[in-house]
This record gives sequence, structure tokens and C-alpha cells, in this order.
Amino acid sequence: MAIHDSIPKLGSRNTKQRAAVVEVLRDMDNFASAKEIHNQLLDRQQKVGLTTVYRTLQSLADIAAVDALHMPSGETLYRHCESSHHHHHLVCTKCGRTEEIDGGPIEKWASSVAKQYNFELTGHDAEIFGVCAQCRAANR
Ligand SMILES: [Zn+2]
Ligand SMILES: [Zn+2]
Ligand SMILES: [Zn+2]
Repeated sequence: MAIHDSIPKLGSRNTKQRAAVVEVLRDMDNFASAKEIHNQLLDRQQKVGLTTVYRTLQSLADIAAVDALHMPSGETLYRHCESSHHHHHLVCTKCGRTEEIDGGPIEKWASSVAKQYNFELTGHDAEIFGVCAQCRAANR
């Protein structure tokens, strides 16, 4: 459902390329890098440059139309999530399977830390990484 909610927010600039990128993200279940998304676009005969893909993903993340995941390696991965409300991710580092989870106590903690240091809270980021049951079973 979020896909139709998020498209009007994109504005008219580069609408076609953005729509193509969003389309790919919608079809992918896991977080993907700009390169992977670019490859998908090429497979679909979409002529979009890698730089445009990077820029488009960044602007989609800026307006929270897609979720960005910052990996310890420095790479940023993107995903179009089911829920449009604030959430966090539990990511399998083997297969990339992703669960959308509630921040729980993190939400309270973030605002109390900001308050303690007299910061105005503008956001927070917390992702959990692990190995899912299927990947553990496959390893046995
Ligand atoms: Zn998400
Ligand atoms: Zn897995
Ligand atoms: Zn949160």
C-alpha cells in the first residue's frame, strides 16, 4: 500500500526514472545496493545511469519514501518497506532477509539521551543484524 502513498510525494522532476527505481525496490524483498538496483534496471531495459540511481535513492531516502540501511562496511542499502510508520530492521547477514520491528525501548532512550545533552532530537538509527533460522538450518 505504501507505494501508492509514496509516489505523489516524489514531485514531477525525473518522475520516470524515480518511478522505475521505486518499481524495482517494490519487487525486491531485501535491502539492495545502488549497484544491484542499477543492474535490475538494466535487466528491465531501463536506461538509467548509476549516478542517477544513487541520486534518486538518496532523495527517496530523504523524504522517507525508502528505507536506507548503513552497513558497517560503509555501503548504504535501500529497501521499500511495508510499513510507512517509523520502524527498525532485523537483518539476516547471510541471505538479507529483513523483518520490520518496533523500536521498543530505543524510542524512549533516544529522546532521553537527547534531552540529557540538551539536543533537539531529529532522528535516530538502530538496526539489528543476525543469522535467520533458515540460514542456520542450511548450515547444519
Ligand atoms: Zn523498513
Ligand atoms: Zn538468512
Ligand atoms: Zn526508532
